[in-house]
Amino acid sequence: MVQLSNDCFAFGGKLMSVDEGVALISARLSAVEGVEHLPLSNCDNRILADNLFAPVPLPLFANSAVDGYALRGADLPVDAPKSVIVSARVQAGSVAEPIVPNTAVRIFTGAPMPPGADTVFMQEDVELDGERVILPAGLKPGANMRPAGEDVAKGALALAGGTRLRPQHIALAAALGQTHLSVRRPIRVAIFSTGNELVAPGEAHHAAQLFDSNRFMLAAMLKRLNCEVIDLGILRDARAPLADALQSAARDHDLVLTSGGVSAGEEDHVRAGVESVGSLVLWSMAIKPGRPVAMGVIEGTPFIGLPGNPVASFVTFAYVVRPAILALAGAHQEPFFALPVTANFAYRKKKGRREYVRVSLSHLADGQVEATKFPREGAGLLSSLASTDGLVELSEEVEQVTPGDRVNVLPYASLL
Ligand code: AMP
Ligand code: MG
Repeated sequence: MVQLSNDCFAFGGKLMSVDEGVALISARLSAVEGVEHLPLSNCDNRILADNLFAPVPLPLFANSAVDGYALRGADLPVDAPKSVIVSARVQAGSVAEPIVPNTAVRIFTGAPMPPGADTVFMQEDVELDGERVILPAGLKPGANMRPAGEDVAKGALALAGGTRLRPQHIALAAALGQTHLSVRRPIRVAIFSTGNELVAPGEAHHAAQLFDSNRFMLAAMLKRLNCEVIDLGILRDARAPLADALQSAARDHDLVLTSGGVSAGEEDHVRAGVESVGSLVLWSMAIKPGRPVAMGVIEGTPFIGLPGNPVASFVTFAYVVRPAILALAGAHQEPFFALPVTANFAYRKKKGRREYVRVSLSHLADGQVEATKFPREGAGLLSSLASTDGLVELSEEVEQVTPGDRVNVLPYASLL
């Protein structure tokens, strides 16, 4: 059972910090039921349902890391080069016989180590002399050899349940011999835009109407999180029909998401609409752009109402919707890692609030990365998102930025 509302009141009238908001969301929403057993080829970007313990060691057997000559550790030259007979040859995919003492075995990358041998000389480091090979002194026992289980020991945790599967995780599962993985079912999200001024792109519009962009942006963001998106169109600014539409959407989706209509103006009807069919709190997050975000529950289904301004919608998606989706999907919360860059702009901000500044990134001659601020700041400027590379994150304590300061940036690619 989802219970966001009661806890939200604990924050009273105070602005909630971004971290408090994320912690609250992830603590209060639990994973939906439902697991699918899928072939590896369909597992990219899905959430692993259960821990995978290695049923075999990786690598499966000790093998050579290079093309060269294998020896027993006991036979290595110590002080001076040494000439030994090449007694056998083993290539990748063939089974090796035990090594004859005081001889070398010609070996190739990935070939099994002959039983008894534990060290490989790289072919570049030796000299050939007919049937013999001259080995330099000084190589340490165990060099250029990959022991069984050095990558993953048999029985070790290879992939933790809750991992978002990326190509590298799928490779690991395949290397461990898995054909299928159990993954969580996708989260079904219903989305609406709200506002009398909105028309869908392509529709006729009068002088005071604009094309709805949030729905398309939010749908694309949700799909990157692997949600199943059910686009339910535009709701008008009227409480009763809005309430009915939200209630029926809540009945067969895992999350209902809207944008617009959550400020405190009398034409912002989302608040009253949700309250008539469920419970709701307005979160005033200490975040710019962003601020008013509505969260609630309608018949047991979580509801999130994002602000209407496109840039505010974009930023609050990352900080409110994404953690909610991860929690519903049974995924680990993946914190963002902002990377340090050099600011070439001046900026003043209010203490106690987290701010996100849209910036373009470029390389400086000395190899550092420089962040250039988009010249204007409006939360409605879509071109500011489309033509920049990421958000400089200014924490609550910061009051100003001066050119040359180190600041942290979140590239857009890392936000989803
Ligand atoms: P609201 O949050 O409803 O007060 O809207 C704030 C601003 O965002 C207004 O200028 C709206 O016209 C604009 N807006 C709201 N929803 C959308 C949308 N779906 N697409 C583009 N702009 C929107
Ligand atoms: Mg509106």
